[in-house]
Amino acid sequence: MTGAPAPSGSHPDEHVPVTPAWTCDSCGEEWPCPTKRARLLSEYQVDRASLSVYLGSCLAAATADLRAAPMTSLQDRFIGWVPRGPLAT
Ligand SMILES: [Zn+2]
Repeated sequence: MTGAPAPSGSHPDEHVPVTPAWTCDSCGEEWPCPTKRARLLSEYQVDRASLSVYLGSCLAAATADLRAAPMTSLQDRFIGWVPRGPLAT
């Protein structure tokens, strides 16, 4: 971890999902928010397969929570943003 230390007891900059609405705890956007997406790509840049597994599990949980949402839109939201193809160099 780099950057400023987080205050103990809260995580204002963690960008974690708040269930069952699946909004971002930090910025209130639909999760994964743009900030979280950028962090996930950075975190999993050498292991894109694990990112897909992780997002797939999030999608499965969100699908159960957000039954009113169309499945295709949830797939777009959770997985569709991940760049395909070879890693950028
Ligand atoms: Zn966020």
